[in-house]
Amino acid sequence: MTGFWTEEQVALMESARAFVRAEVAPHLQEWEDAGSVPRDLHAKAAKVGLLGLGIPEELGGAGGTFLDALAVTEAFTEAGASSGLLAALFTSGIALPHIVASGNADLVDRYVRPTLAGEAIGSLAVTEPGGGSDVARIRTTAVRDGDHYVVNGTKTFITSGVRADFVTTAVRTGGPGHAGISLLVIDKGTPGFTVDRSLSKMGWHCSDTAELGFSDARVPVANLVGAENTGFAQIAQAFVVERLALAGHGYGIAARALELTAAYCRERETFGRPLVANQVVRHRLVEMHRRVDAARTYTRAVAARHVAGENPLVEALHAKALAVQAAAYVCDQAVQLHGGAGYLHGTEVERHYRDARILGIGGGATEVLDDLTARLLGYGT
Ligand SMILES: Cc1cc2nc3c(=O)[nH]c(=O)nc-3n(C[C@H](O)[C@H](O)[C@H](O)COP(=O)(O)OP(=O)(O)OC[C@H]3O[C@@H](n4cnc5c(N)ncnc54)[C@H](O)[C@@H]3O)c2cc1C
Repeated sequence: MTGFWTEEQVALMESARAFVRAEVAPHLQEWEDAGSVPRDLHAKAAKVGLLGLGIPEELGGAGGTFLDALAVTEAFTEAGASSGLLAALFTSGIALPHIVASGNADLVDRYVRPTLAGEAIGSLAVTEPGGGSDVARIRTTAVRDGDHYVVNGTKTFITSGVRADFVTTAVRTGGPGHAGISLLVIDKGTPGFTVDRSLSKMGWHCSDTAELGFSDARVPVANLVGAENTGFAQIAQAFVVERLALAGHGYGIAARALELTAAYCRERETFGRPLVANQVVRHRLVEMHRRVDAARTYTRAVAARHVAGENPLVEALHAKALAVQAAAYVCDQAVQLHGGAGYLHGTEVERHYRDARILGIGGGATEVLDDLTARLLGYGT
C-alpha cells in the first residue's frame, strides 16, 4: 500500500493522469464549446485500460473493482479533467451494470463488450419530463406484442443520449409503482425511437444530454434485461456505486479547484502582497482543504466497504451528500478568491463551479436522498 492506494492503483492513477494530460486537457475547452466528447476518446481510453474498471475481463471489462474506478476519477480530476468529461466518457458506468448483473451472455456480447472496447456508447434512461425523483411513477410503456415490446413515452436529461448507440431504458411493463418497471435495451435506429432534443445546460457542457422519444418503437423481447418487472430492483442495486461515483466527482473537482486556488493565492498580489499573506485567505484555504479531505477520506472508506462485500447504503448516501457540500463550498470559494478572473469562461475554476451544481440534483436530489437516509435510519413517522 502507498497511503490508501495499492502500488497497482498508484500506477493506474499515473497512467490515468498521463492520459488526461495528453488526450483530454488540451482539447477540453473545444469539447465544452462543441457540447460533446468525440467518439474516438472512448476507444483511446479503452486501449489504455481505463474503460470498464470494476467489470470482469471475461465480460470485456478491464477487471479490478470499483476502487480502481474511483482512483481513476481522482486521477482524472487531479490532471484537469472535468466532472462533465467523466460523465460523458464513463456513461458506461450507469448504462451497463444491470446488463452485467443479469448475466445475459447475448446482451453482454451485443452491448457490454463493444462499449468497453470503446466502439459503442450507451446511456441509461430513467427520468421523464413528468419527474425524475419518483422513479416508481414512470409512464413510458412497453406492451408485449409477440416477440417484441411496443414502447411509447419520453425520457429527458439523458447523459450521452445524443451520441448513444443504445439506451438501457426503464419502461412500464406491469401495473403502477415499483413492481411494474422493467429495463429494456433500445437501439439507436429502431423505428419510432428519436433523439428529440439536445439539451443546453448550466454546466457539464462537454457531456451531451438528450430528450428521447419513443413512438410505437418495436423492441425485441430478447433486449429485456433480467426478469420482467424487476427493473426497479435492478436500478436500486446500482445505487451505492452511482452515489459513490458522483461523490468522487464532487471531491475530485473540489480538490482540483483548491489546488488551482492555492497556487493563484500565492501568486496574486493585492495591496502590495500576495493573497496568502492575509490570514483570512489562509483560513479559507484550510477550510476548503478540510472539506475536501473529509469527503475524500469518508468516500474512500465507504467504497472499500462496498468492495469488501458490505452494503453501506446509508454511508454511500452520506458520502454523496458530503461531497456535494464540499464541491459547492470549495468551487464557490475558488471563484471568489480568483476574483474577476474566476468569473470568466475559460478559467478552470469557473467550469468546476458550474459543473458542481448538478451533483446535488443528478443521481437523486439532495432532499430525496436525505429523506431516504432518514427512512433507513428509522427517523420520521
Ligand atoms: C445534466 C443532467 C444529467 C442527467 N443524466 C441522467 C441520465 O443519464 N439518466 C437519467 O435517467 N436521468 C438523468 N438526469 C436526471 C436526474 O436524475 C433528475 O434531474 C433528478 O433525479 C431530479 O429529477 P427532476 O429533475 O425531475 O426533479 P423533480 O423530481 O421534479 O424535483 C425537483 C426538485 O424538487 C425537490 N424535491 C423533489 N422531491 C422532493 C421531496 N420528496 N422532498 C423535498 N424536496 C423534493 C428537489 O430539490 C429536486 O431537485 C440528469 C439530469 C441532469 C440535469
